[in-house]
Amino acid sequence: MSFIEMAKSSRASCRICKLKIEKLTPRLGIKSSFEMRGRIVESLRWHHLECSFEKLGEEVANAEIQADLSAEDIKKIDRIKSKFLSSGLDAIGISDLTEHGVRKNVKATVLKQMRVREIETDSGKTTKARTVYVESDKIRRKIVLWSNQVEIELKPEDQLLIIRGLTELGSDDKILVNVDENAKILINPSDEQTKKITKAPKIFTSDQWKRPSGTHVKFEIAKTSRAKCFLCGDKILKSELKIVKPVWIENEMAKRHVPGSYSLHLKHALDDEDGAEVLKEAISRISHDIIDDFGSELIDLRDSTENSKIKKLLDEVLIN
Ligand SMILES: [Zn+2]
Ligand SMILES: [Zn+2]
Repeated sequence: MSFIEMAKSSRASCRICKLKIEKLTPRLGIKSSFEMRGRIVESLRWHHLECSFEKLGEEVANAEIQADLSAEDIKKIDRIKSKFLSSGLDAIGISDLTEHGVRKNVKATVLKQMRVREIETDSGKTTKARTVYVESDKIRRKIVLWSNQVEIELKPEDQLLIIRGLTELGSDDKILVNVDENAKILINPSDEQTKKITKAPKIFTSDQWKRPSGTHVKFEIAKTSRAKCFLCGDKILKSELKIVKPVWIENEMAKRHVPGSYSLHLKHALDDEDGAEVLKEAISRISHDIIDDFGSELIDLRDSTENSKIKKLLDEVLIN
């Protein structure tokens, strides 16, 4: 649990820069509890709010604000929130495009659509591409429609919602967006469609079980076939999608708990004692790559689960 307050004294030091935190300056407190030799130990760590912006974004985004902050700090916190309190699937707004090589949702207005071009790929094949000039927040950018998407006819002033477009740094040093076969484009979407897409699950961390601080449940692609599913005891095969749950593991010899995790088959995750929370946490942090590569497994899970909350969450991330 984290919170932001004005320092009540000048005694604490910042865990990031190691310098003193002056009284009445904003600071981020992170409370955590862990188990040591069978006892629950509480810890409270302090950080300059300024230092936290870069290093502790997720904690800042989730912090309870208990101070009267400057307008500038509030603005920074809002920006961090928009980045962390979503799974990245609702990163709409082309002007926010700073990263390349990632899949993002993008909203834009059509300025001009160019003719279909034949392009030779690295492997010597030809493919079709079509550039569209768009504008968003007064920034002019390019989107590129690929393969069968080139057929889409666009008119100036059309509103576009690109779902999971692949960003790329263009020759003009601006980020352009590729609409390939894994992306989808909605033309003049209804408010309802826009709302559905922007409503991606919030990042969620369950408090149903004790775990090492700062860890979270995640989807992972098994790198080997060595790990066994904690529930059924069978091997999880290499390249299979699994769920990793962080926990404290009891070390009999040393008689203490050590940080650890266990793996679960995707289909067995809901049978875990914290199953629904485990899956909810994993889905809230799912990456585009996992959605791209394991779409059919996730659809199977959605269709087979009887847990309506998990069904709904999966629906939200499996937009197309
Ligand atoms: Zn600091
Ligand atoms: Zn299993």
